Parts: sequence; structure tokens; C-alpha cells
Amino acid sequence: MRILVVEDDADLNRLLCTALREAGYVVDSAKDGEEGHFLGDTEPYDAVVLDLGLPVIDGLKVLEKWRRAGRMMPVLILTARDRWSEKVAGFDAGADDYVSKPFYTEEVLARLRALVRRAAGIATSEIEIGPLRIDTRGARVAVNGNPVKLTSLEYRLLAYLAHHKGRVVSRTELIEHLYDQDFDRDSNTIEVFVGRIRRKLGVNAIETMRGLGYRLLENPASTDAHDAS
Ligand code: CA
Repeated sequence: MRILVVEDDADLNRLLCTALREAGYVVDSAKDGEEGHFLGDTEPYDAVVLDLGLPVIDGLKVLEKWRRAGRMMPVLILTARDRWSEKVAGFDAGADDYVSKPFYTEEVLARLRALVRRAAGIATSEIEIGPLRIDTRGARVAVNGNPVKLTSLEYRLLAYLAHHKGRVVSRTELIEHLYDQDFDRDSNTIEVFVGRIRRKLGVNAIETMRGLGYRLLENPASTDAHDAS
């Protein structure tokens, strides 16, 4: 999952980015409304954390511009405490949720998880797909109740597919959502990661659609690990 953080306070920006990366997200950040608007307009994000008081273009304007251009990603706004009118204006401009400053990063993380889930039509923080269980809160995976150890990138890939289960996800889409904008992207590595995840899960959960991409099956069947690679 790839998140954009738009916050002009350097310390707060760093704090949010660090917390999000530690939680397993890929993060891009912007320090003013113009850069933030550009990124949100051109890059595919799974969610955005948007401060409202921003230099160059204020956050409300940024949000209005995105929505007018048809950008539908979930947006969590950061508002000044006790400014109820700011929250109302934010929701009217297309915000999905808000957190008042000062905030606990844990709350921001929980609200983001909920937004990403809701966008994917998933009701709880645990995703169950056949024998596969993905705990999006702790970034943990289990098959038939047995924990499976994945690297953070392998987890991100599996979690992204799980949030889009049943749908074919192209390699390009995976790359866009698994790496930040500065990463040297190589689509062949995706195949390598998918192979590793299959071996580790030991169930035939990820289907390769030749030339199109990958799909997480809605009802993965247990199988010998070697057959699945
Ligand atoms: Ca600010």
C-alpha cells in the first residue's frame, strides 16, 4: 500500500512518514500544497494524509482539485483542534476522515487502515481467504493457523492482492503500489517475489494470468508447495 503524506511541519512530516514506513507502507511526502497536489494528481495512492494549513495551495483547495479531476483515493485530513468548521469544510470538499492535532500516530494508522479497507470493501482488520489469514493490524500472515514469515515487501505484495482479491492486478499496478517514487523499478522482480510468497504460503493462492498479471483466488486450495511455484 502506498500512502502520500502532505504536511508542511517538517517534524510532523518526518514523524508520520517514519510511523507509516514502520507499519509497512510505502510513503511519498510533500511539504506544500503544490507539490502535494501534483503527486496526488499523477501517482496512484491507496490513501492520503493531508494537512489543511499548507503553503502555496491550502489543503482544502488541493482536495477540491483532486476530487474535481476525479481522483478518488481515500483522504484523511489533519485539522486544528476544536475547529469544527474546518472539519465540515473538509468533508464537503471530499475528505473521508479526519484527525485533530495534536494526534497519536496510532490513531492515524488505525484510521488509515480502516480507510484502505473500506475502499476495498473489507469490514475488519483481519482478511480471511480460505486457509489464508492476513492480519493487517500486525502485518502478520497465517495459513491454516500456522504463522508464515514474510519480508516486508512480500507482505505488502500479498496484502495488496488481498485488498483486490478476485481481480487481476497487473505488474505495473503492483510496482506503483509497492515502491515509492524514487525506487528503481524493475517489473521482473515482481515475478521473483510472487514465486517466493507461493513457496512460503504452500497453498495455491496466487494465480498468474499470462501477460495480464496476478490474481488472488477467492478460494485458495491447499496443495503441495512445489506445485504452486
Ligand atoms: Ca500546516
